[in-house]
Amino acid sequence: MNLCSENFPLRPAWTEIDLGKLRRNLQLIRRDLPRAVKLLAVVKDEAYGHGALDVARVAVEEGAWGFGLSTLEEAMALRDEGITAPLLLLGERQEAELPWCVEHDLTVCVNEPHTIRKLARVAAALDKCVPVHLKIHTGMSRYGARWDEALPLVEQIVAEKSLRLEGVMTHFSQSDEVDKSFANLQFSRFNEVLAALAAKKISVPLRHACNSGGFLDLPHAHLDMVRTGILMFGIFPSSVCRRLPGIEPVMSVKAKIASIQKLKPGEVVGYGMRYTAPGERRIAVLPIGYGDGFPRVRNTGCALIRGRRAPLIGGIAMDALMVDVTDIPEAQLWDEAVLMGRQGDDEITVHDIAKLKNSVSYDVLTNWRLRLRRKSVNGEAKPAGQNLTPGLASTHG
Ligand SMILES: *Cc1c(COP(=O)(O)O)cnc(C)c1O
Repeated sequence: MNLCSENFPLRPAWTEIDLGKLRRNLQLIRRDLPRAVKLLAVVKDEAYGHGALDVARVAVEEGAWGFGLSTLEEAMALRDEGITAPLLLLGERQEAELPWCVEHDLTVCVNEPHTIRKLARVAAALDKCVPVHLKIHTGMSRYGARWDEALPLVEQIVAEKSLRLEGVMTHFSQSDEVDKSFANLQFSRFNEVLAALAAKKISVPLRHACNSGGFLDLPHAHLDMVRTGILMFGIFPSSVCRRLPGIEPVMSVKAKIASIQKLKPGEVVGYGMRYTAPGERRIAVLPIGYGDGFPRVRNTGCALIRGRRAPLIGGIAMDALMVDVTDIPEAQLWDEAVLMGRQGDDEITVHDIAKLKNSVSYDVLTNWRLRLRRKSVNGEAKPAGQNLTPGLASTHG
């Protein structure tokens, strides 16, 4: 059996990744960004569930300088597939990982003296001079050295012959809300560090702070590079951040009607008998459930069928959910239903799904399980010579 063979049937429930829309979103982001500012495409967690390799291939064509990742495995997978662009590991590295990072030209974020020392030794042993990014925490209290304790680390890195201080970075705890006061406090702390570096005549080519929210709303903080994740996938990080017209969601979740049932008044539906038909009803069963990452809800939410909303009834199971199609009489077995995304003039957004599980868009995107295979559409490589964003070539490298 070969899952990759063209003839292997796709399960009638899948995620659809529109690489054409991804390309368009990247072009819109790139076009909005001053030319000199580089774009780091954040593709951690399988590019937020969109498939890191497919996303990386499109992003390289659309002028991304490199990629942000979380784990060593994620970065190695892209290297193994031939992605040669810089890969920046955003999180914390264990010492045992450092030789792998150096051997595969992965760029490490550092903020601990012993990691810096170890990395320098590994690089020296391989006769390499490796780029590092110093991660500075300016108020988020997660990864990074405190802003007021960062300078000795800079000096330590600069003193190591096998290390090259390529970047300094920080990360905002809140960049996409109306109140920017904490973001601005964080940025002023970061600027203190940058000013101290300048005073010591230490130049750092890549100073970066912005995620999608910062890219949209904190143009004064763009510096040399922005790190966008969710916006590339067509989702705005908050309801109040700046809108970039034309941005569209890349991922949809779909299933085909696998069974149709007729209910008589008083008959019940699903585990726990959570729904009782108030009259004659016609229901459709979609072969997708909480085992695929759909929120475990009952009698709430809906699917789009034939462009209309079919309300979810009863409790959702591991492998199935039921929707009421009484008002969509033309609905038939194996019709395509949309659980997340657009059909006709209507759309179920990632935020609608997030509400069902009391969570946020990031969580919804990354929580569709791999049991739902990804079907990429509109993934043709960019035709040679056609550049919809003129002048971008100069931002490479
Ligand atoms: C995940 C992540 C990003 C991307 O954030 P988005 O809000 O998805 O744009 C940027 N920087 C760091 C350090 C991250 O961990």
